[in-house]
Amino acid sequence: MLEDKNQQRTSLENLGEFGLINHLTKHFEIQHTSTLKGIGDDAAVLNFKDKNAVVSTDLLVEGVHFDLSYMPLKHLGYKSVMVNLSDIYAMNAIATQITVSIAISNRFPLEALEEFYAGVAQACNVYNVDLIGGDTTSSTKGMLISITAIGMAKTEKLVYRSGAKENDLLVVSGDLGGAYLGLQVLEREKEVFKVNPNNQPDLEPYSYIVERQLKPEARMDIVELLEKLEVKPTSMIDISDGLSSEILHLCANSEVGCNLFEDKIPLDPTVISTSEEFKMDSTTIALSGGEDYELLFTIDQTDFPKIKANPNLTVIGHIAAKEEGTHLVTRANTKIALTAQGWNSFNEE
Ligand code: ADP
Ligand code: MG
Repeated sequence: MLEDKNQQRTSLENLGEFGLINHLTKHFEIQHTSTLKGIGDDAAVLNFKDKNAVVSTDLLVEGVHFDLSYMPLKHLGYKSVMVNLSDIYAMNAIATQITVSIAISNRFPLEALEEFYAGVAQACNVYNVDLIGGDTTSSTKGMLISITAIGMAKTEKLVYRSGAKENDLLVVSGDLGGAYLGLQVLEREKEVFKVNPNNQPDLEPYSYIVERQLKPEARMDIVELLEKLEVKPTSMIDISDGLSSEILHLCANSEVGCNLFEDKIPLDPTVISTSEEFKMDSTTIALSGGEDYELLFTIDQTDFPKIKANPNLTVIGHIAAKEEGTHLVTRANTKIALTAQGWNSFNEE
């Protein structure tokens, strides 16, 4: 529905593979001294001296992870990078390099790939990472994107999923549920558009949540903030699949239980009003929605004074002994077992 039908369409055939790679990547500049060799040889060469390299990769498939009927390609390029950088920040590391591999069918003209790479370039600039390589191939149907992100951290800075201990505080950055609800709004508008292509959607009341879906930001700022506040989380994970499944990962890896308080979960007012409109429960959306790319972490209680005044961080619960299990404490003060797909409100203990 956001597609411009009058664009120029340059066929990829005339460019050839090397011409295409060169065309798409020639404006990327190397920013890090750790990048000894970027694009142009058989492999990139990196040197981190006394630091550890942190590596994470993700594969995104058209029709499964993104829908080009409402996802502008520039946003897709940006978001694809964010999804990967988020994993690097979740290790309390600094992202330094990415590789970008794409498979595309012949329905994509050069202009579409230029848009995609404009989004990649913007992400590289804002987050200070070097594009150091990738691969380009054809697909029989649709688009596939595989990005690998590389970061660095000193050994003593690294934070794993496994370090949470009893009585630690459970903390989340930003607010939750927006990306999922933004997707619901876009899906609804897509259906309206199918029936009446002349209908121009008014997304203005939903701009916050639509942006959360189309242009998420990985929380590099939180890693920097924690450094400044001299807080090292005891465990950390990024929220890609929804709060409850990420909490369960942290607790399983750390061999602990937890109590999460429903009334503490940070929600934007747009999330509350749009949940009502869709007749959905906002807590369920925060727990199971996904794609928020916020950071979830645990801190020692003695660090609480350092974070308590910060508007970017919310304490949502605490870590308990493993035997106590993993629970949501509702507004009505009942305890419900956390499950990865939200929870069943009839399933009270
Ligand atoms: P190879 O044949 O060894 O796989 P390629 O011809 O695919 O090499 O790639 C040549 C160079 O261009 C390499 O440095 C590779 O990492 C880089 N490259 C290839 N495709 C992309 C892409 N889509 N984005 C960024 N760099 C790419
Ligand atoms: Mg190749």
